[in-house]
Amino acid sequence: MREARADAALIALDDGGSGILTERDLIGLIACRADDTAVGRVCTRALYTAPSDASLYHVRNMMNDRGVRHIGVERDGEVEGLVSFADLLSGIELAYVDELRSALEARDSALASSQRNLQLAEKVIQTSLEGIMVTDASGWIMRVNPAFTELTGYSPDEVIGQSPSVLQSGRHDQAFYDRMWSTLSRHGQWRGEIWNRRKNGEIYPELLTITAITDENGEISHYAALFSDISELKENERQIRHLAYYDPLTGLPNRRLFYDRLSMAVAHAHRGRGRLAVMFVDLDHFKTINDTLGHAVGDQLLEAVAGKLKACLREDDSVARTGGDEFLVLLPDVEDFEPVADVAQRVIDSLGQPVFLQGRELVIGCSIGIAFYPEDGVDEEQLVKHADIAMYRAKQRGRNTYSLFTPAMNRAAQRRLDLETGLRTAIEQQQFCMHYQPLVDAEASALVGAEALLRWEHPEWGRMPPDEFIPLAEETGLILPLGELIIAQVVEQAAEWGGKIKLSINLSTRQFGDPTLAERLMESARVAGISGEALGLEITETALMTDFDVHVAAMERLRDQGVRFSIDDFGTGYSSLAYLRRIPLDCLKIDRSFTAEILESEDARSIVSATIAMAHSLRLGVVAEGVETAQQAQLLREMKADTLQGFYFGRPLPAADFAATFLR
Ligand code: C2E
Ligand code: CA
Ligand code: CA
Repeated sequence: MREARADAALIALDDGGSGILTERDLIGLIACRADDTAVGRVCTRALYTAPSDASLYHVRNMMNDRGVRHIGVERDGEVEGLVSFADLLSGIELAYVDELRSALEARDSALASSQRNLQLAEKVIQTSLEGIMVTDASGWIMRVNPAFTELTGYSPDEVIGQSPSVLQSGRHDQAFYDRMWSTLSRHGQWRGEIWNRRKNGEIYPELLTITAITDENGEISHYAALFSDISELKENERQIRHLAYYDPLTGLPNRRLFYDRLSMAVAHAHRGRGRLAVMFVDLDHFKTINDTLGHAVGDQLLEAVAGKLKACLREDDSVARTGGDEFLVLLPDVEDFEPVADVAQRVIDSLGQPVFLQGRELVIGCSIGIAFYPEDGVDEEQLVKHADIAMYRAKQRGRNTYSLFTPAMNRAAQRRLDLETGLRTAIEQQQFCMHYQPLVDAEASALVGAEALLRWEHPEWGRMPPDEFIPLAEETGLILPLGELIIAQVVEQAAEWGGKIKLSINLSTRQFGDPTLAERLMESARVAGISGEALGLEITETALMTDFDVHVAAMERLRDQGVRFSIDDFGTGYSSLAYLRRIPLDCLKIDRSFTAEILESEDARSIVSATIAMAHSLRLGVVAEGVETAQQAQLLREMKADTLQGFYFGRPLPAADFAATFLR
């Protein structure tokens, strides 16, 4: 035992069993001098054993329970050794040290890996393309990364310790930021698009994520903001939207956008009980151009057409390209079909003007169909469909023309169209002549002048009443060339009659508004060798309503030359007395509707006598128009009208007949 430094020995017994002799037993035996006793007789025979795979804990418990300090270790039924309490102790110590070592090792490697993680995070922050900004819990900036500087223009020194509000663009209201903070405090995160301002003042959109970072106690310790500049993204988005809603070739809205606008316009018209028009414009023989000259030329032509269409429309109108050579036009807020028909005609005329493409002169015709809300359809689909049908009718009618969906409207428009074409030809072919109607002095019944009245003899339609075609000439602007003809004829006539009587010319609103009128009139008088005394001008009240000051100046220049001004159809407009005083006028012509009623109607009589009294107090002469009977003439004389005009004294006559009757 001493040699083996053991405190117990296992004793192999004769019967094959095992006993145990411990140091303590031995000391007892030696004390009672049992020196020569065989060990097998004195050893403890009941050896407690435990299987070799039992745990130390189990073995310790056994020792405790049995009050022993040694236990045999058994493997396959054979006792192969002893385990002592001392063994147990040193074993446990070993296990503990082992555990301690591995715990320490684990801690070291965790530390190393967290170090690595930190380094990695640092790398990510430094190289991130997203701007990163970390603030403390009160929102003061603690650190920013290089991308932050790149995106905002601020270096770390300039922002650290500042509030992020240095970046605010001013585009968002307080409510926006309030919402942001409330989301942040509720969900710990906010994400959205925000406009910020760079150091150079530029405003840019960014996609921003703010995260609240909490410590181990759940308290917010930091905020981290990650953002990226999305200006480019926004621009792409805009381009994509543009592609979705616009035709890439012409830049005009496409079918989708057009339908959007149309449905909105329909809703608006519906609410306001208004009207709108849809025009379907289809180019004539566009395919031939494409086939013979190539698609490049075709494309250029389409661009030119788009430009022309836009130029024909008002600002509120929309034009879209909806197919190869198809265009749709929306005219919101239209009152009647005439202005729409005018637009259609303008489009046809404009497209009819040649365009020069690749050294070639190209002319393209078009056919137009028009449908109106609410008459021809109550929704987008119906309106476009009916405009399309009308367009086909226009094509059938020989192209380069327009057609309205409703037959009655179409007939009226057709008549107008014919009249307009007729007027143009009439101007070219000089189908006009002037008739003259005498104006007589009320007292002496002597001739004092004549009113020049326009007559149109159409080769097929016969005589056209001026009341019908003058308004159209006015609308289409044809009145200007027509007015030239009238002035030329009347001035020539005045010269022929030697300036003996004053000839009055009727001026339409548009003519009167022409700033060169006064000069041109005096020039033709000068050329013809007559003075302004030989001429009078009749204007309506409405003509005076616009551009007042310009008119007054022009009128004064003419009056200096002896030209006299009358207000025509007086009583049918809205002139006020105060207004009349400021205009250099000579005469009022009482409208023939009053003269017609003067015998029967007390009212007409009072209006006429009041008008005459008023005119005289303003030192204006008074002409009574439409005198048809001797009684009317007598009454007007008594009411002190200065001049009388009407069938009673003479109908409008061709110059030769007038001269033969009145200028002998
Ligand atoms: P207005 O200036 O009031 O011309 C007078 C109209 O009254 C003329 O009709 C004349 O024929 C008609 N008239 C004259 N006496 C009588 C009468 O006793 N009874 C009735 N019932 N009618 C009478 P017209 O020639 O048909 O002209 C109609 C309108 O057309 C004119 O009204 C004028 O506004 C316009 N107009 C005629 N000629 C010209 C012109 O050369 N230039 C312009 N801008 N307008 C013209
Ligand atoms: Ca007149
Ligand atoms: Ca008149």
